[in-house]
Amino acid sequence: MAKPQIAIVGAGFAGLAASRQLSRLSPQEADIHLFDRNASTTMLPALPDVAGGRLEPARVRADLRQLLDPHIQLHLGTVERVDPARKTLNTAEGEFTYDFLVLTCGAVADRRGLKENQESAYTLSSLADAERICQDFSAFVQSRSSPQVLVVGGGYTGLELASNLKIRSVRLGRPARVTVLEMKDRILAGLPDRIRSYLETQALRQGLEIRTGIRLDSFDGRNVRLSDGSCIEDVFLCWSTGTRRGMPELQGEQQELPDGRIVVDEYLRIPWHPQTFVAGDAAAILHRDVPLRKAVNFAYYSGKSAGRNILFELRGRPLQAFRPLDLGWVIPFGNTAAGQVLGIDFLSGRLPLAMHYAMCGYRNFTLGNKIYFVRIALRALFDML
Ligand SMILES: Cc1cc2nc3c(=O)[nH]c(=O)nc-3n(C[C@H](O)[C@H](O)[C@H](O)COP(=O)(O)OP(=O)(O)OC[C@H]3O[C@@H](n4cnc5c(N)ncnc54)[C@H](O)[C@@H]3O)c2cc1C
Repeated sequence: MAKPQIAIVGAGFAGLAASRQLSRLSPQEADIHLFDRNASTTMLPALPDVAGGRLEPARVRADLRQLLDPHIQLHLGTVERVDPARKTLNTAEGEFTYDFLVLTCGAVADRRGLKENQESAYTLSSLADAERICQDFSAFVQSRSSPQVLVVGGGYTGLELASNLKIRSVRLGRPARVTVLEMKDRILAGLPDRIRSYLETQALRQGLEIRTGIRLDSFDGRNVRLSDGSCIEDVFLCWSTGTRRGMPELQGEQQELPDGRIVVDEYLRIPWHPQTFVAGDAAAILHRDVPLRKAVNFAYYSGKSAGRNILFELRGRPLQAFRPLDLGWVIPFGNTAAGQVLGIDFLSGRLPLAMHYAMCGYRNFTLGNKIYFVRIALRALFDML
């Protein structure tokens, strides 16, 4: 009998956790194929620091070939399409037929709300995005006497980015006017009030301007017009209104959320396609009837669970339902942070900021980068950043 062919699409937190579980299968038991468009993987939560020039890109990147078990075959390139009914996926190289698939393609910045000149706006969902912001922002502020930045989207990524750009412009000796635009009546909607108002106060203290209840109406590539009739000229525009599942396109009928996340059952399979699993940011994993938020720990543990379930299936053991454990979250914000860990609100800045960098170390991919982030966490704790 032919050996089972297992494919993993996406080598982020979820895909790598799945691959580690599957590498417990011997080369005689199955062939394992990992597809990614990049030769390296990224510690995404540290991207705002890279965009703000506070971290070297090498500190958040790790070479996939050095991370993978030699028995896993790495295919570099974009997976364009998956057909769960036929159990095939397509790349530029052609069609590949799988017996089991773990789809862990993550999420990309959602630019659909920006109708024109998308290529002149900056997003932050990959290392390439962060490096582009870092380079272009430095040139932008140095060539203007009063640089202006507009970040559209008052969620945590937009605010972290705004704060990092403000700090950078001050360090470069050209303090920018940084505005955060949010169409809802408040930023960070959905966060507990105490944490939201703490972060809002910190934003104002850092010199960010926050404008709520206003939309961007038009962008000609350089100037913006807002829904209250005002204009901002010669602006560095960052677009941060959320993320959605990007490629691959999925053939056939499945249930998806508006942001493209694919609804899975408790074993992380697409209903009616029991050999196709989805994990991480690409999956809509319902927990107490609400989809889990997009976060590193859920991606890591769901990827691990999907990989382990394929292993169980091949070894004739019953599958295990994925039961997420929510320990909490932290929002870093320039030189401060706030969050909720184990149900306790942390507002004091230093401890949550240290926790954030400690998590970036703990979940990092190489020993050198783990140690580097632990040192940043200690410096944050002792207020030495
Ligand atoms: C700026 C930013 C800050 C964040 N901060 C935090 C934070 O502080 N704490 C937290 O918990 N979470 C944070 N997150 C969210 C967290 O990073 C994600 O939840 C997590 O990375 C999801 O992991 P994943 O494995 O599902 O996807 P990813 O880590 O995004 O990995 C997806 C992989 O799939 C590959 N891929 C995608 N499409 C294709 C294709 N068609 N073909 C081939 N390969 C493909 C990509 O190259 C990538 O390697 C942040 C995210 C961003 C962008």
